[in-house]
Amino acid sequence: MTTLRDHIIEHIHANGPMRIDEYMAMCLLHPTGGYYTTRDPFGAEGDFVTAPEISQMFGELIGLCLAQTWLSQGAPDRFTLAELGPGRGTLMADILRATRAVPGFVQAAQITLVEASASLRDVQRKALAGHAVHWCDSADALPDQPLYLIANEFFDALPIRQFLRDGTGWRERQVGVTDGALCFGLGPVLPQPAFADRLADTQDGDLIEDCAQLAPTVQAITARISAHGGTALIIDYGDWHSLGDTFQALRGHQSVDPLTAPGQCDLTAHVDFEKLALAAAPAQHSRITPQGVFLERLGITQRAQTLATTMTGKQLENHIAAHRRLTHPSEMGNLFKVIGLFPPTQSPPPGLDP
Ligand code: SAH
Repeated sequence: MTTLRDHIIEHIHANGPMRIDEYMAMCLLHPTGGYYTTRDPFGAEGDFVTAPEISQMFGELIGLCLAQTWLSQGAPDRFTLAELGPGRGTLMADILRATRAVPGFVQAAQITLVEASASLRDVQRKALAGHAVHWCDSADALPDQPLYLIANEFFDALPIRQFLRDGTGWRERQVGVTDGALCFGLGPVLPQPAFADRLADTQDGDLIEDCAQLAPTVQAITARISAHGGTALIIDYGDWHSLGDTFQALRGHQSVDPLTAPGQCDLTAHVDFEKLALAAAPAQHSRITPQGVFLERLGITQRAQTLATTMTGKQLENHIAAHRRLTHPSEMGNLFKVIGLFPPTQSPPPGLDP
């Protein structure tokens, strides 16, 4: 059987070295050998655990944050409730359960999931049984109406390119083949007018990353939010203004070389929230806020205490550990950042500052 590695090696022999974004897209979403297309990677037995899989509190608080924003904006009677890259569907299921308490919200919501993987769409269909759910391939296809959207660990899966500074030019980092094995290499020095601004904050030998799908995806969201109302909460690894190599692979909860097992590990890169914010106009963006601070402001500790009253023993221990894992600065609390996108004349969603 031809593996994805064989396929990539053949492709490189036929076409020359492969850009990192091409390699990443193939590894994650190749129809028969891609990581997300062929498996359910989440949970303790999988390769990584995401916030909604750690505790129901994450999705409940996100749901109430979206519903409060919907109320503050006059409770439009028909809107899109969207998630980008919903994984197992756990986050959306928790959002829908928590917001049942908000009169009219779930009834007015048209649930739309942006998901590239057919096998994960099946998992999501089961998790959301009982709800009318639509799927689409990209944010461009979201309906033209008010949009309340969540994306957790979606943007870090969008393919990036990497460039190493050489004088006033740049060499693109590529994937090639040496002695039958995949290896990194560098392309020729070329001018890159699109990165003219990066000559000011980099030196020879510095590496920068560029995600071509970031701005168009953000613009598809903010076009709808500016025209019709709504909000977007984007949560991911990353920081304001990126610099350096953040391309990484995870397998069985361990960091591994991104070239060792194509299609069998998760590949990600940190999100540059500054670029994300710049693409948001004419919508406004909040300040980026650490996940731990955001969840504390939304009341995670009170929610944790309420849930804890019915728990004992191992279940209580796990619950306390989950609260810590989501919020503590040495765990996910600081590594993950939240940004809110919202209409020109409105205030940011609860938990976020203008
Ligand atoms: N949000 C989920 C899962 C994050 S993993 C959670 O928090 O648990 C990334 C998700 O994005 C997966 O569902 C994956 O299949 C999907 N995905 C990755 N790249 C995509 C793309 N280009 N278009 C649509 N979905 C994509």
